[in-house]
Parts: sequence; structure tokens; C-alpha cells
Amino acid sequence: MSEQQLRVDIVEIGRRLYARGYTASNDGNISARLDDKRLIMTPRSVCKGFMTPEMMCITDLDGLKLAGERDPSSEMQMHLEVYRQRPDVKAVVHAHPPIATGFAVAGIPLDRAVLAEVVTTLGSVPIAEYATPSTKELPEAVRKYVKAHDGMLLANHGALTLGADLFAAYYKMETIEHFANISLVARMLGGERLLSRDEVFRLQGLRGSYGIAAPAPICPDPGDPAQADCQVVQAPVSSTGQRLIPDGRLGTIGPERLRPEASAEREPRASGGRAPRALKDDEIRLTYRELTALIEDAVRNLK
Ligand SMILES: [Zn+2]
Repeated sequence: MSEQQLRVDIVEIGRRLYARGYTASNDGNISARLDDKRLIMTPRSVCKGFMTPEMMCITDLDGLKLAGERDPSSEMQMHLEVYRQRPDVKAVVHAHPPIATGFAVAGIPLDRAVLAEVVTTLGSVPIAEYATPSTKELPEAVRKYVKAHDGMLLANHGALTLGADLFAAYYKMETIEHFANISLVARMLGGERLLSRDEVFRLQGLRGSYGIAAPAPICPDPGDPAQADCQVVQAPVSSTGQRLIPDGRLGTIGPERLRPEASAEREPRASGGRAPRALKDDEIRLTYRELTALIEDAVRNLK
């Protein structure tokens, strides 16, 4: 691809990141391999929504500036680390999409096998450890997962995606944010039903026919040292052959979280007498009053 086309594509992706609210102010950065010795990337301290093609910076693979009026991105070291670790990667996108970043801030990885497209394109989306932005810590945190993952969350910061070209990397950012949105809604509605492990393997088998050749984001063998720094997709084994399985661990968001673990067995003392109605083995529904009474009771017991 010509240098001019790369410049134009970076401008367009910056515009989309900003328009979709994936970056605020001057956040985010985008880079691509220009050839086997040079990178082209966004300059520091510009809003990605209003860039022009001539603003871009050209550096070597060590980050030395070769061309461009402005200095390269403050997160350049993170991009350089990705290119060092992944010869197959031709482009890197970093942004702060709010729902995915919310998961990164809450420390909740997007690791559940829920959507076929996500299982095939990204597998699991791990969280790289917190690192101070624009310091050497950040490339070190990213190094752990970058060999096995094309997309990851950055703890208390944002998200990072890689691809065989600029748009492939950008679309993975869209996929992560979309996945985060759906995961959030599903958890508010009571929790995801997960794809079974068999279904995940079936999807993995289809990857080739979709033209996806990511390294190993599904990681069927976590014991393999080559996949040591890989986060496995949560896909339970189905004993009945079902392809969708409720996940018993859910309930991290919403009123479920407030439910005291032992309350299923315990009578609420101050709830006005009515015992909670048991629905299924692991489910219990309480009125607001009953829930308040349980919490008050728990607080009293703590004192
Ligand atoms: Zn950032």
C-alpha cells in the first residue's frame, strides 16, 4: 500500500474513533508499517478526529523520527513493542472506548464465549496489567499477551488492537467495544448464556474459511508453553450436548451482586414475615423491602 494511502486511512480511522466516542480530546493513537524498516503513525497532542494526511510521523523500528513536523505519538513505545513481537502485524490501534474501558477499569476481562464473531476474530480479550501511560511499563505490560492476542484491554486505561492492515486493526476495536456493550447489557439482564466448548471448537475450525489466521486466541491447550501467556475463553463443557449453557458464576452487575451468599438458606428476620420465594435451586427473588431488611441485618451482624 502506498504511503499516501496509509496517511489517508489513518486520518479516516482517527475520524471514526473520535466520531464513535472511542477517544476524547487528544487520546488514542494509530500506526502502520510503511515498509520493513519504517512505521507511519499519528503525532502526539492532536485530536484524532481532525487530522490531515500530512500530519503523520515516520519513524524507524526503534522510534527514531525520520520525517514529519510533529513528534510521534506518546504511546509510540507500546506500538514498537507490538511490531517487535508480531512480524505478521501491519497496523496497531489504541483508543479508550468507554464500555470496554469500563470493563478494564472494573478489572473484568472479556473472556466469555458468547458471540460467534468474537470467538472467531478475537477469542478471549485479556486485561494487560496496569501501567503508567507513555512510560516503559506499558510496552512491558502489553508484551505478556501480545503474542497470543490480537486485542486486549489495558487496565484502567483503554484497549489495544492489532491487524494485518489498518482497517483490520480498527475493526477489532469496534468488535471489542460492541462485545463489551452486549456483555454489559446481558449481565444487567441476568447474565450471559455461554457457548459450549464443543461449539467454540467448531467455530475455531471455521476460522480458516472466514480468512482469519490469528495466532491462537482460543488456546485449546493452555499447558503448551508456547501459549503460556494466553487467556483462555470461558466455554464450559456441556454434559448434555447443549450448545448454550447458563453460566452459574454470573451476577457481577446489578441487584444480584447485593444478594448475600447465605441468604438463600436464611429467613430474613425483619422482612415482615414473608419468606423469600425459592424459584430454582440457585435462584431466589426478594422484594425491595426483603432485600433492604437482609442488608440491614447483615450490617447489624457486622457491628
Ligand atoms: Zn491511551
